[in-house]
Amino acid sequence: TKEDVKSYLFRNAFVLLTVTAVIVGTILGFTLRPYRMSYREVKYFSFPGELLMRMLQMLVLPLIISSLVTGMAALDSKASGKMGMRAVVYYMTTTIIAVVIGIIIVIIIHPGKGTKENMHREGKIVQVTAADAFLDLIRYAPVGILFLIAGKIVEMEDMGVIGGQLAMYTVTVIVGLLIHAVIVLPLLYFLVTRKNPWVFIGGLLQALITALGTSSSSATLPITFKCLEENNGVDKRVTRFVLPVGATINMDGTALYEALAAIFIAQVNNFELNFGQIITISITATAASIGAAGIPQAGLVTMVIVLTSVGLPTDDITLIIAVDWFLDRLRTTTNVLGDSLGAGIVEHLSRHELKNRDVEMGNSVIEE
Ligand code: ASP
Repeated sequence: TKEDVKSYLFRNAFVLLTVTAVIVGTILGFTLRPYRMSYREVKYFSFPGELLMRMLQMLVLPLIISSLVTGMAALDSKASGKMGMRAVVYYMTTTIIAVVIGIIIVIIIHPGKGTKENMHREGKIVQVTAADAFLDLIRYAPVGILFLIAGKIVEMEDMGVIGGQLAMYTVTVIVGLLIHAVIVLPLLYFLVTRKNPWVFIGGLLQALITALGTSSSSATLPITFKCLEENNGVDKRVTRFVLPVGATINMDGTALYEALAAIFIAQVNNFELNFGQIITISITATAASIGAAGIPQAGLVTMVIVLTSVGLPTDDITLIIAVDWFLDRLRTTTNVLGDSLGAGIVEHLSRHELKNRDVEMGNSVIEE
């Protein structure tokens, strides 16, 4: 009925606004692009987006610390130990699966055919913003996202200069991330919990869009908490415990990306990798994803580890910088999805401990 539609729209207003922001931001960006704004104009234009970035970053540190402390305090040490174990097993399993997908896809598609001499190379400086450390402020998110996206489109490189190999590489990364995010992770969630993963993912929409807009899983953390706790009803003792850790160390998208990118660089160098080296890449890509901070383009920096481990030229990271701003958004979204589904899985596996604890505590500790 009309009333139902109204209440549905009202409940989902925020999500709808966020989706609209992405669409309007994209259109605005492409409309303004031909005007070729100066560097200074782009900076002014992107200011509302920058403001969102800073607000989110400001929240992160206090949020991580306070949530870990309250999360642990709400559990006895045995229960938190078990939960921690489950989270770690989940992180490791999904990261390794991601790496394997990355390797298989890049070997099959082989985007690096040919030599790197015909590749566009550019010496842009890798920009790393520090994720430092208020929650209702986040209502501002759709406005910020609109300008983050429009600003980026206005200032991005002309797509024309991106040659064939780089275009194929971009497609390969997208295919790999999609397989992991749309098939593997939802399937895993279904197999463990026997619940519909798409309902769960629907509740995460806003966090996923924020990840896309900010390229930072740490900056997205406040929204990830909100989506999991408010939309999906995940137990706060779980989210507070696993999300901060997950956002820092569990990065499936980054792991997949690093392995894939390293093999791509090997391909454009016509560098034959033997099986041992591929194993080395899987291990170092896993390590590099754990080591990468949840900030924009961190994965590009830790890739040095992967390349050096098998003797590939680290300078060749510059070959892929031109598309990294875009691929970074996609892997960040995958990272946030992995952390969120992980929270759902850990909650399911820990339901007995959580229940026992409720009984012990008279059931009202965490419900404020
Ligand atoms: N930007 C990613 C994140 O925050 C990390 C990366 O560069 O891969 O999750």
